[in-house]
Amino acid sequence: MSDNKVIDGKLISEEIRKKVKIFGDELKKKSGKTPGLAVVLVGENPASRVYVKNKIEKTKEVGFKSIEHRLDKSVTEKELLELVRKLNKDENIQGILVQLPLPDHIDSDKILDSIEPEKDVDGFHAQNVGKLWSGLNSLVPCTPLGCSIMIKKIVNDLSGKHAVIIGRSNIVGKPMAALLLGMNATVTICHSRTKDLKAVCNEADILVAAVGIPEMVKSNWIKKDAIIIDVGINRIEREGKNILVGDVDYDDCFEVCSMITPVPGGVGPMTIACLLLNTLLTSYSQYNLETPDLSSIFK
Ligand code: NDP
Repeated sequence: MSDNKVIDGKLISEEIRKKVKIFGDELKKKSGKTPGLAVVLVGENPASRVYVKNKIEKTKEVGFKSIEHRLDKSVTEKELLELVRKLNKDENIQGILVQLPLPDHIDSDKILDSIEPEKDVDGFHAQNVGKLWSGLNSLVPCTPLGCSIMIKKIVNDLSGKHAVIIGRSNIVGKPMAALLLGMNATVTICHSRTKDLKAVCNEADILVAAVGIPEMVKSNWIKKDAIIIDVGINRIEREGKNILVGDVDYDDCFEVCSMITPVPGGVGPMTIACLLLNTLLTSYSQYNLETPDLSSIFK
């Protein structure tokens, strides 16, 4: 297997975090303040706990404050809304992240929409979603933002390219489509009701898989030299071991594609780097400082 086919999300994300730290240090000097990211975790979902732990660690590494709120799964919607309102008003908090999924008795949309759009580092608030689809400057959901940065490193302008996304969630599939459209791709979004998914995927120059089905995409689903971005994180047991695999059968697809993201070490670390990038952006805006040219972060 040749390494130059691998899109190394770990490496790219490290570079981004280093640059966020440099800009963050400058921001702290200019403002005399330290950006704060509040992370709200409800319940004991093991995967969420791991994500939150990683996010907190990386937040501290770039020199931002990380404020964790761990709530019991019995917390009421009203109590959670009250916490978000408090964080909205807190001048020491520049970003608010409510880890999903939330327990069934809580309306996630209601909670996400209660976050002040200026502090919405996940980019899930309806105002930010609307801005993204309107091509306006907005906070962009971290996972698709990370995917778009990786794609841009390979092909900057996707004019004439066909991008196929499997998955239409608000977190990944839909914002990914908006970003790819913004990069001039012709975009197709697939989901569980799509007819002949394999045939649609075969048309893709860029294939983004965000489904949640382990190794669903096989080599005969992809066009020769396609770029594959595998968002899926699936825990499975193989040969007596618990391992992580994506939605794409990596080994099977490797020879056919031109570039591919591994799981782990692909999209996952990019998500966290983009969370920190979004926190940097919200901090500039809340400190009323002009955002400098951050384009070097993406190079
Ligand atoms: P959702 O469950 O919200 O969405 C899954 C999407 O896949 C839905 O649109 C669904 O269609 C579609 N789908 C399900 N089954 C099929 C099928 N057989 N054929 C075609 N489409 C299908 O998941 P998320 O978008 O939140 O996450 C997707 C994956 O990405 C998961 O593995 C998740 O763990 C991972 N993830 C990784 C992140 C990272 O940082 N790397 C961050 C976020 C998610 P329909 O709408 O019709 O139900």
